[in-house]
Amino acid sequence: MSKLLPSLSQPYVLVEGGGIFPVRRIYCVGRNYADHAREMGSDPDREPPFFFSKPADAVIQGHHVPYPPMTSDLHHEVELVLALAGGGRDLTPEAADDAIWGYAVGVDLTRRDLQAEAKDKGRPWDLAKGFDHSAPIGRITPRTAVDIGNATAIRLSVDGTVKQQGTLGQMSWAPAEIVARLSAYVALKPGDLIFTGTPSGVGPLQRDQHVVAEIEGLSKVMFTVE
Ligand code: MN
Repeated sequence: MSKLLPSLSQPYVLVEGGGIFPVRRIYCVGRNYADHAREMGSDPDREPPFFFSKPADAVIQGHHVPYPPMTSDLHHEVELVLALAGGGRDLTPEAADDAIWGYAVGVDLTRRDLQAEAKDKGRPWDLAKGFDHSAPIGRITPRTAVDIGNATAIRLSVDGTVKQQGTLGQMSWAPAEIVARLSAYVALKPGDLIFTGTPSGVGPLQRDQHVVAEIEGLSKVMFTVE
C-alpha cells in the first residue's frame, strides 16, 4: 500500500560522545519537588506527583528557542530527564531502574497563563505544556558514564542570574519510583523520555534572554529565547 504522506521524520536527541537517541514519547512529572509544589499553591504532603506529556517532536537542541504564540507568560522549569532503553508494564522499582539508560538536562517550557486558565476551568493542560519547541534538552549521557545522586546540583540561570537551584535529592519521588509508577498507567518502551519535575524558582522568560540549565556531570542546555 502506498503512503499518503511522505515519511515522517523521527525526533531524536544527541548522545554525549556520539550517536542519537530516537524519541518515542515524552512524559513529565508534576510537582515532584515539595518547594515547587508550595510555590504553585499546593500541599506537597497531600498531593502525590502526577503525569502529563508532550509530543515527541517538542524536543529542541539548538541555541535558539522561539517564544511561543498564544502566551505572554512563558516559564522555565529545569528538570532531570530520564532516557529509557527498556520498558514494560507494572515494573518493579528494580526493573524500572534497569530501564533507565541515560540522563539529560531538560527545560519543561510552560505557557503559565494557559496552564492557570486550564486549572481554573478544569480543562486539559496539553497546549499549556505540549507546544512546538517546548522541550529544550541537552545531550543524553549514558548512566554508566556519570554518577547522579542525592547531592547532585540542579540549576537554571537567566541572563547570568540564578533563578532555580536545588539538588536531585529534593525530588519527592526518585527516578526508579517515577518509572515504576508511570508503568502502571502505560507500557513504557525504548525511546521514552521522562521529565522528572522542577525545583522552586520557576519564572517568566522574555525574548532575547539567555538561559543556562545545568545538572552536575551532564551536558548543559544553553539557549536564547527569540
Ligand atoms: Mn515541569
